[in-house]
Amino acid sequence: MHRIETLAARAGSAPDPVSGALSPPLQLATTFEHTPDAQLPHGYLYQRYDNPTQHETEVALAALDGAARALLFPTGMAAGATALQALPRGSHVPRWGLEYSLADFTDADAVRAALRPDTALLWAETPSNPLLKVSDIAALAQIAHAAGARLLVDGTFAPPVLQQPLALGADIVLHSATKYLGGHGDVMGGVLAFREDGTHAAACHGLRLLGGATASPFAAWMILRGIRTLPARMAWHCRNARAVAEFLAGHARVAKVHFPGLASHPQHAVATRQMRDYGGMLSFEVAGGREAALAVAARLRLFTNATSLGSTESLVEHRTSVEGPASTTPPGLLRLSVGLEHADDLLADLAQALDAG
Ligand SMILES: *Cc1c(COP(=O)(O)O)cnc(C)c1O
Repeated sequence: MHRIETLAARAGSAPDPVSGALSPPLQLATTFEHTPDAQLPHGYLYQRYDNPTQHETEVALAALDGAARALLFPTGMAAGATALQALPRGSHVPRWGLEYSLADFTDADAVRAALRPDTALLWAETPSNPLLKVSDIAALAQIAHAAGARLLVDGTFAPPVLQQPLALGADIVLHSATKYLGGHGDVMGGVLAFREDGTHAAACHGLRLLGGATASPFAAWMILRGIRTLPARMAWHCRNARAVAEFLAGHARVAKVHFPGLASHPQHAVATRQMRDYGGMLSFEVAGGREAALAVAARLRLFTNATSLGSTESLVEHRTSVEGPASTTPPGLLRLSVGLEHADDLLADLAQALDAG
């Protein structure tokens, strides 16, 4: 088995048998020739069912996550909705999330207490948005399996090169490919990667096929292109984010830094055990709360005020402004997606924004 850098650079593609092209062809056809009695000599019937470009991308995605099968969707949310729709009718789902905080997934006892006899799925997001909480994937997998449930891990903040949830016992990994997998802020996509090619994977495939949540071949092609450089980009994202986190942790106007790579992070030990590096996302709380945080966000020049993450450019977002009145996020919190600029330029930008005013 090749290492993940090699898989990212190569999996899913071979020189095109017709032209010898190394870059995979973008196959836009909606329909494929079949025999009069609907046998599929090339394996494809109709673009919504399956298509060659999507297939190549899914082979690469499965290889990256060590999955038996991976399915691509038009968005991360479509992937998540499909994973939920594919559960048996009436299933119960403990989920840590901003909308309904059913259990703190950094607390194993709280997760156990949230279980019910009809619990079918545990949904963990690690590291989480926007506080970068880290949950123990192996421990959650044990809890889920002892209860006859599955564990889904939303690994969007830590793509396959940083974290391998399936190897730690998770059953499904969800990625918003819109973020690091695409990597350039110009394509949307979602992924479900399954440890077993069993009934849940088949149900998700069936729902995608009939519900129509198929990514366009162009999106699949762009995501495969992003995957090729994923390990190289992540190494730089992680390096920059660490430099930014350390700078902020030592700054007098910063009340708190949320970054799993800092020894002060409450789940630093778990993160160190289950992640290869700590990622490119972090958040911090500006001393002085909401008004001070908004002033810092307004003074930043290199960090652009925008949502989303995982692209080449650094982004800042005042989360409570985006989340609205129901937000439980600290009002002084700014989330950073640390991009691929030079770290010194990013630190200089943060310094001028924090030191002014
Ligand atoms: C962005 C995001 C999603 C949703 O993905 P889309 O591609 O925007 O639909 C899900 N989970 C996390 C952690 C995300 O950051």
